[in-house]
Amino acid sequence: AVAWSPFVQVYRKKYPWVQLAGHQGNFSPGEENGTIIKKSSADEARALKSLMDDVVRPYVPEFRREYTRDAELYIEMADLLRDFDNPSVMDIKMGTRTYLEDELAKARVKEVLRPDMYEKMIAVDPDEPTEQEHAAKAITKPRYMVWRETLSSTATLGFRIEGIKMSKDKPMKEEFKTVRRREDVRQHLKKFVKKQEPKRKILEQLKQMRACIERSDFFKQHEVIGSSLLFVYDSNDQASVHIIDFGKTIPVPSGITLNHKDEWKEGNHEDGYLFGLDNLIEIWETL
Ligand code: ATP
Ligand code: MG
Ligand code: MG
Repeated sequence: AVAWSPFVQVYRKKYPWVQLAGHQGNFSPGEENGTIIKKSSADEARALKSLMDDVVRPYVPEFRREYTRDAELYIEMADLLRDFDNPSVMDIKMGTRTYLEDELAKARVKEVLRPDMYEKMIAVDPDEPTEQEHAAKAITKPRYMVWRETLSSTATLGFRIEGIKMSKDKPMKEEFKTVRRREDVRQHLKKFVKKQEPKRKILEQLKQMRACIERSDFFKQHEVIGSSLLFVYDSNDQASVHIIDFGKTIPVPSGITLNHKDEWKEGNHEDGYLFGLDNLIEIWETL
C-alpha cells in the first residue's frame, strides 16, 4: 500500500478534509464536531491512549473513544485540520525503517519468492536485482523491504515525504517515493512552506516536540515505526505539527530502552526517530 493520493472529502460540518496516506475507506467524520474516526487496530488504540498520559501529549491528536463494529476497531480522535481555513498539509513519515523488526522476522521465516515484488523493483531500478533474482523473476519479501527504504530519504535521513497537498492544489497525485537526496528533500520542504511566519512557528514546535520526545517515557519504551508528522498551516499564518499514525507503534521487550538515535542492529529495536527529527530540524533551519 505504497500508493497514495490526497483525498478531499467534505465532512459533516462542511469543511474540506484532506487525507494524504492510507486507504480512503479508513477515515470518516467523527460523532463530535472537529473529530475524525479511523479504522484502526488494538496497537494503535493502546498507543494513542497511553500517549494521553505522556509529555508528548500536546503533539498528538487527542484520543476521544474507541469502539468495535463488525469485528473492526475504530478510534475517534481530534481532527488536526479543524482550526484551519483551507490549509496546506504535509505528511512526513519518520524513522530509518518503516517495518517492524517483527515484520522482518516473519518475512524471513517463509522466504517465499515474490514475482510481484520483483516487478515493483525493476519498475524503479532494472539494475537492482541480482543475476539470480533476474533469472527467478522474483525476490524475497525481506529483500524487498530492506531495499525499499533506500529509495527515499528514509534510510539516510530518517524521514521521508509521504504526501503534500497545497491549499490551492487540486487533489492530484505527486510521487515522493524516490525523493532521496538531502537537497531534493529540502527543495520540496521549501516549496511546501514559503511564508516566514508559518515556517518559524513550525520550527519552534519541532524543537519543543523534540525536547518532549527526549524526555518521553512512552518513547523510551516503544518502537515507533511508520508514524508520521502532520504539518498544517493556512493563509492566516496558523501552523501546527503533530505526531500521527501509531499502527506500528509497539512496546519494546522488557529490559530494553530506546534512544531513537543509535543505528539499528536487528534486535536493538532502534527506529531512528530522533535521528530523523534532528535531520528534519537541521534542514528546516535552512529553508
Ligand atoms: P498509512 O499506514 O498508509 O500511512 P493509515 O491508514 O495508518 O495510513 P494515517 O497515516 O494515520 O493512516 O493517516 C492517513 C492520512 O490521514 C494522513 O496522512 C493525514 O492526511 C490524515 N490524518 C490522519 N490522522 C489525522 C488527524 N488526526 N487529523 C487530520 N488528519 C489526519
Ligand atoms: Mg500514515
Ligand atoms: Mg499507518
